[in-house]
Amino acid sequence: MHRPELSIVVPCYNEEGCLEALHARVSAAAKAAVGGDYEIVLVNDGSRDGTWPLMQRLASADPRLVAINLSRNHGHQLALTAGLDLCAGEQILIIDADLQDPPELLVEMRGLMAAERADVVYAVRRKREGESVFKKLTAAAFYRVLDRVTDTPIPIDTGDFRLMSRRALDAFLSLPEQARFIRGMVAWVGFRQVPFAYDRAERHAGATNYPLAKMMRLAFDAVTGFSTAPLRFASHASVLLAAASLLLLVYIAWGFFEGDPVPGWTSTMLVVVVLSAIQMFVLGMIGEYLGRLYVESKRRPLYLVADIAGPVRGHATLGYNAEDVEHDIEDTSAKAAE
Ligand code: UDP
Ligand code: MG
Repeated sequence: MHRPELSIVVPCYNEEGCLEALHARVSAAAKAAVGGDYEIVLVNDGSRDGTWPLMQRLASADPRLVAINLSRNHGHQLALTAGLDLCAGEQILIIDADLQDPPELLVEMRGLMAAERADVVYAVRRKREGESVFKKLTAAAFYRVLDRVTDTPIPIDTGDFRLMSRRALDAFLSLPEQARFIRGMVAWVGFRQVPFAYDRAERHAGATNYPLAKMMRLAFDAVTGFSTAPLRFASHASVLLAAASLLLLVYIAWGFFEGDPVPGWTSTMLVVVVLSAIQMFVLGMIGEYLGRLYVESKRRPLYLVADIAGPVRGHATLGYNAEDVEHDIEDTSAKAAE
């Protein structure tokens, strides 16, 4: 199998407004970096607009473009996993479809990778333009909370925009989990990883596909995937509560022997309400982990591919069922060319 020097992997959900500009700018950046020896892997994550037909059109006109159509919307992290499974390059650039991360930085990122002899160059956001104050605040809070609770140090203000070496990618692909927080998993892999500061631009077209609910889910995947601190919270809380109840006991005994028992409806209610809240929180946290254990135990494939347009050089492992994707997939490049 021929390994191109560079693969550029792009997950796309409802990005018909961005694809043409993306293709043009990514192609130019790749040519500037490696000449002709590259491939662009676009993954359609069950878009509801014209993203897939447009991808097929682009693939039929550009032999360096591979378009992958997932069977439905699997979510950003799984769509990206599919692209990473199917790419074949010696170096791999992960980039969003909306051009918020400028592909032109590729040359500099490669330079840094060579100079530092690094396996991963991850792009750290210095500025974020055209995003709401709410999104910026929640994102900033998220990265800082995550940094406090996780056992693996995960770089702050870093998305999935990064350049990876083949050995780092292969190591990453050997991690089988369903609840994927890719930037954390890449950090876990290790090797030499260096930051690269950049300013995040505005979306080229369309609107964000990460509403609050999806961000919360990613946040929970991040925390539960990289930390058991929330599970330990119950034992920490119990120590504090035991100390508090000892004090309360002394207070009650004192009132009893003085012949002046506390009337205490307010304090009783307070204790009931506070303790119920803590118990619910602890139960909820156990539920979060239990739910993920349940999902992992089913061992379902991470994603399913429906069609591929263009020449696939890599092969999908389809999660840990490790089947060769070529058996299952109809090559639609001929159809697209018609
Ligand atoms: N995306 C995807 N599947 C989804 C949601 C998003 O493949 O279910 C892609 C999307 O097309 C984009 C990237 O993930 O390339 C990041 O999404 P978006 O730009 O909406 O997120 P934001 O930059 O606002 O956090
Ligand atoms: Mg975006």
